[in-house]
Amino acid sequence: MNKSILEQLQAPFYEEDIEWKIGTVNDKNEPIKGLAMAYITNRAIQARLDDVCGVFGWKNEFVEWGDKGQLCGISIWDEEKRQWITKWDGADDTNFEATKGGLSASMKRAAYQWGIGRYLYNLPAQWVEVRPAGKSWRIKEKPKMPMWALPDCNREYICEKCQNPLMEGDGKTIPQIVVGSKKIFDGHIYCLDCIRIEWKQKKGEG
Ligand SMILES: [Zn+2]
Repeated sequence: MNKSILEQLQAPFYEEDIEWKIGTVNDKNEPIKGLAMAYITNRAIQARLDDVCGVFGWKNEFVEWGDKGQLCGISIWDEEKRQWITKWDGADDTNFEATKGGLSASMKRAAYQWGIGRYLYNLPAQWVEVRPAGKSWRIKEKPKMPMWALPDCNREYICEKCQNPLMEGDGKTIPQIVVGSKKIFDGHIYCLDCIRIEWKQKKGEG
């Protein structure tokens, strides 16, 4: 299988694609704190597979696993070998929310087998304030992702106007400049110098 496909599958996700669940809770002290664990949402996993493999280039299937578990297999079409390659993993139905817990959790695990979201294992342990919510716990404030765990932070961006690599400046990081530039200039990525020039022209016209 093409190496770049695997790299694209393993790329970090934006914070809105992360969901947090609480593992161990320490309620001996106030405030009550829990260990926050990050997962990629299943919606984002599917979107990633669509983007990298094409809508018809991947498929998933579920089978019952013992009494109360689910196995999920994610298959990706290997164009070189002209065959489907499948990775399986399973989860207990009781692991997560009871209803579609097993299905959803087993898909996350099968996705990890492909490297999707595997970088989340490298996050430092994060204890956060939690409050009781029924039988489980709810996070008061979601933990922040470190820069390395966000998309594009190691990628080199080239300004679409002057063709120079983007540099940080004005107290802004490169990812912040990229997001800002895309927002202001209809998806185009410009360096800070070109943003200033474009911005002046834009204002001049208006
Ligand atoms: Zn430029």
